[in-house]
Amino acid sequence: MAAEAIGCDILILGGDVIDGSGAMRRRADVAITGDRIAAIGELSGYRGAREIDAKDRVVSPGFIDTHTHDDRLLVSDRSMAAKVSQGVTTVVAGNCGISLAPLSPSSRPVPPLDLLGGEEWFRYPTFGAYVAGLGRQPPATNAAVMVGHMTLRARHMDRFDRAASALEIDAMRADVREALGSGAIGFSTGLGYRPSIDAPTDEVVALAAAAAEGGGLYATHMRSEADDIDGAMEEAFAVGRRAGLPIIISHHKVAGRRNFGRSRATLDRIAAASTQQRVGLDAYPYVAGSTVLLPSDVVERDGRIMVAWSVPHPEVSGRDLDAIAREWGVSPRTAIERLQPAGGIFFIMDEADVRRILSYPDTMIGSDGLPHDSHPHPRLWGAFARVLGHYARDVGLFTLEEAVRRMTSLPAKTFGFADRGVLRRGAFADLVVFDPATVKDSATFDNPKVPAAGIDAVMVNGAVVWRDGANTGATPGQVLRRVAA
Ligand SMILES: [Zn+2]
Repeated sequence: MAAEAIGCDILILGGDVIDGSGAMRRRADVAITGDRIAAIGELSGYRGAREIDAKDRVVSPGFIDTHTHDDRLLVSDRSMAAKVSQGVTTVVAGNCGISLAPLSPSSRPVPPLDLLGGEEWFRYPTFGAYVAGLGRQPPATNAAVMVGHMTLRARHMDRFDRAASALEIDAMRADVREALGSGAIGFSTGLGYRPSIDAPTDEVVALAAAAAEGGGLYATHMRSEADDIDGAMEEAFAVGRRAGLPIIISHHKVAGRRNFGRSRATLDRIAAASTQQRVGLDAYPYVAGSTVLLPSDVVERDGRIMVAWSVPHPEVSGRDLDAIAREWGVSPRTAIERLQPAGGIFFIMDEADVRRILSYPDTMIGSDGLPHDSHPHPRLWGAFARVLGHYARDVGLFTLEEAVRRMTSLPAKTFGFADRGVLRRGAFADLVVFDPATVKDSATFDNPKVPAAGIDAVMVNGAVVWRDGANTGATPGQVLRRVAA
């Protein structure tokens, strides 16, 4: 018998296959040869050089983290532990207008570009140089990268409180073309941030149109996610229509107590727009957001703020701003000024809105994790496991098959990743084996750097990158191009 067995590199035996399409799970074995899935089915005639027992486990496509700020992590810690430990096999970076390339500043970049680090990390004069670096020293996950509007503004403008001139727009358009030609999948904005807030819609359209020429898409952290969200959404749709490309609304939320409940209206508007143009959206499964902490935040606040990091005061990371201010005998605003540069975690959302947005059929999962924060938001290590365990299994927001679809085939289709996000013969072998009974986010707001529970094995392009709670050291990730449909 053994002599007649069909050989393969890895054989995953006896698992419940959830193929990513939304279809019900079915018992099947999975054979992997090289970087592809060789067969799925009853494979007792196969023999694997390595065999993985998946009894009582789910085997699904690896998850696609559609919203990350991993641009620098892909270079500085190629194990990508925060991601592969949750079953993530592909990350989309360059979101919110923030990309590591093309920029090589002589001093610390303006917030929030510094979420990626100080000037020493911005060392790519072209986008092509960044992509080539990822190819030479690949990370554990696949990566798809976008070029950021704010990065281009920092590269070409002497000040941010104005529209870009015609010359500056030409220079930025040339950079967008270079990025798309080098493998970027699109262009992103962070219009709610100070360095971009004075950029008019026409400037954004001019740059998005250059991305459209290269077959790219447009992802936007909108100008407002609070009181002015309606106008911000109309702007996002208009950019998509005028520039002629698909848009993605990043980390969709409605922030601030007086906006609680508005996700009913925003989702209705997204559904209506989707009948006219291509609209995608992503969300993370928490009621708190996280970004840079600025003195202006104290004016707008109506919720708890935790300090995620501070350059002059690293010792207060993980503590509440109010407690720090009390201890220092100063106002919260003065405390924020003393903490600069700094990052925060902001409790600004309503649980009902979070659940409504997660339940919308086109919502993809994006962690929005900030990997260089000393006390990061738990979404960095927990977002995907939290959707599978907490929201699908425990709360029952949707089936496990549906949860997996939102993390796999939906983003692969939205972003144009060919042969990813599904388990079928011939597809790339990006897989996760997990225990549906125990999968759970272990990262919390108080203790955020903890790997998820219940993830047995993770494979990227046919190589095992995570097994039994640890990285294997393999770095088989590829830079993914977008195949525009
Ligand atoms: Zn953002």
